Amino acid sequence: MTAKKTILYLQLPRLDTDTESSAENLALAALYLRCSLERSGERTYYQFLPQMLQADSLDDNHCMSSIAKIHPAVIVVTLYAWNIERSISLLRRLKDLKPETVCLAGGPEVAREHPFLWRSKVFSAAVEGEGEVVFPGILKALRTGRRLQYSNVAWRVAGEYEWGDRKPPDVEFAASLPPPAWHHMMPDTGGMGYIESGRGCSWRCAFCCYNQRRTRQGWLSARETLQRIRIMVRRGAREIRFIDPTFNSNPMFEEILKGLARMNVGRKVSFFAELRAETLTSAQCEMLTKANFEEVEVGVQSRSISVLRAICRPSDPRATERGIRLLAGSGIKTTVDIMCGLPGQSLRDITASLRWASRIRGVSVQFLHTLLLPGTELRRNRRKLKLSAGSRPPYRVRRTELLSAQDMMKAERVARRMSGTDQDFSTRRFVGFRIPELFAERIRLSTDDLHNTVIPGRENKRALIIAGEDLFSIRNAICTTIRNAILNEPHVLWQFVLSPAREEPLDLLSMAADEIDGLPRQFIDRMTFSERGDEIVSRRIFVMLRRGRRYSRRWMAASEEYLRTRFF
Ligand code: SF4
Repeated sequence: MTAKKTILYLQLPRLDTDTESSAENLALAALYLRCSLERSGERTYYQFLPQMLQADSLDDNHCMSSIAKIHPAVIVVTLYAWNIERSISLLRRLKDLKPETVCLAGGPEVAREHPFLWRSKVFSAAVEGEGEVVFPGILKALRTGRRLQYSNVAWRVAGEYEWGDRKPPDVEFAASLPPPAWHHMMPDTGGMGYIESGRGCSWRCAFCCYNQRRTRQGWLSARETLQRIRIMVRRGAREIRFIDPTFNSNPMFEEILKGLARMNVGRKVSFFAELRAETLTSAQCEMLTKANFEEVEVGVQSRSISVLRAICRPSDPRATERGIRLLAGSGIKTTVDIMCGLPGQSLRDITASLRWASRIRGVSVQFLHTLLLPGTELRRNRRKLKLSAGSRPPYRVRRTELLSAQDMMKAERVARRMSGTDQDFSTRRFVGFRIPELFAERIRLSTDDLHNTVIPGRENKRALIIAGEDLFSIRNAICTTIRNAILNEPHVLWQFVLSPAREEPLDLLSMAADEIDGLPRQFIDRMTFSERGDEIVSRRIFVMLRRGRRYSRRWMAASEEYLRTRFF
């Protein structure tokens, strides 16, 4: 018997500048695919490698060398808007090094009309929608050379992608899930467990791609849902998130809540779910409280009937408000989503929706910009609807027929003022003796190190500290180092920290900022809605003052003010 071929699953994380909480990179697809392999005859020929958890923190070079060392026969990636560019770039390099590696893709970014995915040519096959049902068939096809002709699978044939024409197998939702007691179903290291009690959505919101991928709905029975939760709690979960698109569309919603209340009398576990507010009753809100739902999220998007109609969202604003008031009145932390940039939406509509939500006691507002995600109706009809959006992920709407870029900025300001939060983590301080948001990996470079082209370090969030007596005199070397760092690791979030012994000319900061400005931006730069619209988030310059040295207040304030105009 020949050795089994190895499969590595990779889902690159979404990077943000937050240094206080640990990032979440939920990779349920890894479990679902592993389970579908174990259930199929292909387990005789293939096996999954342990998940490469260190990929969550490694930079591209270290990710690459780890993968090359493992040398999997097949690598499966889940593509999201936040990781598609980095995943493609990494796999291109891997294919140069190990051309025999087969790359497969799934995830929300796989869509027929994707703007650049198919041009990359790194994937042997890609699956649109749920992958677990067709995954063993794809592996078999790779092994035997006889391709599957499913309509949701694209195969690369002679440099082009071809889609099949057969309907993929119709597997019941409950049957497609891993068994409840499967040993891989564990809470994460923070004690968070994820439960999917239902899949599919009866609504067809034009901005959503979830509903395009699965048209049928399916649910677990209340008994099985409760059994899964019981096991997850026994395995250490202290918090459970339902990942259903709308938990209360589950016909067994009340039964599940009653079961949870019985199971969780001591309130040792808290729950979170996304809910549709308009159908909620006061009895259901009471049940949610008894079960210990500490937090829920409700997508309202807009209060305007005409906007809701334009995005095919058949919700009733009055009933929605009643449900939200019931939830918030029950003491459950309720987050209400309001969107900006929808077709037919004016600045007045947006501010009215924001004002309405922020006036409800106990509600916090989440302000979301409209994204023209591949595979959505909104993207398909963007020209007709006169929506102008970025061409790279996250494809954020920048202008509409009724909203200018300035209007969007105004709406953003109103949202920030009303919610009192900074959802994008803007920098608190650029200049100081202590920089509060410095990343954990801190590399100190001496002036001699500036001539090396290889930048030390291994993490995807990294601070490079450059200290010197006369930094302005070595400004060209500093700029070259910044450039090398970014070109070597274009997907790392960089902090370039200048630590001067005395006041340096502000030209030093502007030269360094210009160096960064000239290089391509990252996902996080396009995702963040900044005041002027072009402040950089992914690579920032800081000034760390040295103890025992003197700097005038005026110079510190001028440096802070300057950096604030260039970076977010
Ligand atoms: S946005 Fe939510 S309610 Fe609308 S289609 Fe998507 S999953 Fe369903």
